[in-house]
Amino acid sequence: MNVSLFGQTESPLQRLAELRGRAPQRSLDARALAALAANPGCRRRALLDAAGVDKAAVAGRLGRPAPFGQSPFAITRGNVFEARLKEDGYAALLEPLRRHLGLPPEGAEPPAVPDLLRRATPAVRAERTRQVLAEAAADPAAWTLLDHPMLRLTVAGSPAYLEPDALVVHGGRCTVVEIKSFPVLDGTADPAKVGAAARQAAVYVLALQQTAAELAGVAASADPYAEQALPGSPEPVVLLVCPRDFTNRPTAAPVDVRRELATTRRQLARLTRVEELLAALPPGTTFDLEADDSGAPTRPPQELAAAVEAVPAAYSPDCISTCELGFHCRAQARCSGVVEQLGRGVRGELGAIRTVGAALAAAAGATGDVDGDGDDAAERLAYAAGLRAEALAALPAGVSGASGASGASGAFGASGPDGGGR
Ligand code: SF4
Repeated sequence: MNVSLFGQTESPLQRLAELRGRAPQRSLDARALAALAANPGCRRRALLDAAGVDKAAVAGRLGRPAPFGQSPFAITRGNVFEARLKEDGYAALLEPLRRHLGLPPEGAEPPAVPDLLRRATPAVRAERTRQVLAEAAADPAAWTLLDHPMLRLTVAGSPAYLEPDALVVHGGRCTVVEIKSFPVLDGTADPAKVGAAARQAAVYVLALQQTAAELAGVAASADPYAEQALPGSPEPVVLLVCPRDFTNRPTAAPVDVRRELATTRRQLARLTRVEELLAALPPGTTFDLEADDSGAPTRPPQELAAAVEAVPAAYSPDCISTCELGFHCRAQARCSGVVEQLGRGVRGELGAIRTVGAALAAAAGATGDVDGDGDDAAERLAYAAGLRAEALAALPAGVSGASGASGASGAFGASGPDGGGR
């Protein structure tokens, strides 16, 4: 429990609502959870996501908006493709399901498609999905197609609601069906997009494992590699359905997400519990943008920046492509000169050397700021700087190194490996 500004105790959910202010709650989706799992050490993202804060709006008010998320074009293309799959009683979708999951052939009784109350609130929809999943799993002979089920996953003590495209339940198990709009050309798809889809599907599998454990009244296994065999458990192989060769005709491929599942489960388990994050906040902190009647934010950016900076971040260059606050956190990392701006690999190599300035000083032979396990890194930096200086000295007259005589400044320049500008 926290104590509010008025001296009353309040629950974590009330405090999270206070942090969000009057803005509508942004719910966590599988894509966001997969990104959160990729950087479990970032308390800032964990807290803002738990509170349902619109991070894109916060980044905009801070003056560093990020062009982030799916393009409207990709969203429209995906919606059109999915609608096409579901026309005429799911005719186009059933064809790959027959081929890959063994659904009865055309002409036999089609799978049952229960009503999942899509207009209800996420909590009601999640309860309805649990009920339908339990009933479908109890009849091993039946085939059931769940169109846009709603799953609940508890992450660091707060609930997230997730919506896979479809689930097929048969033989007491279920299979996640993920519909994507990127094309499969001559049997090959973009590996980066397939990888992102696999990470997203792994979050659904994790939520289904939690649901199956709750339905069975047992605790979900903490072992990231454990295979679950409870009624309604998900298969670790999901079915990815994509357009074939720029048409709206589908093609499908099974994707084994065991590795992504283990990583996601391990990383999400490392997230700090939301109560702990709230307890560490300075009193009165809020991320409310104080929108006026037209919806425009009125909160002074400096005040908002102070609130954001009250929560420790764990910036790495990956943040630029995975988090709406990427540009803001990068600017902050550059201002403070921390080595995190150079990436996790460099950060690990530098040991106790925490700033770019200390690394440059170590390369120049000064070790005053470095102690403990930074000694080795400092020696390596000084050695590398010496080798570089020797190599530059041996160059013929008139040829010089690209970055001039100061060897280390080129390697640890302020712009970092992800380039300058935004
Ligand atoms: S951009 Fe900032 S808030 Fe987002 S994950 Fe990176 S460090 Fe955390």
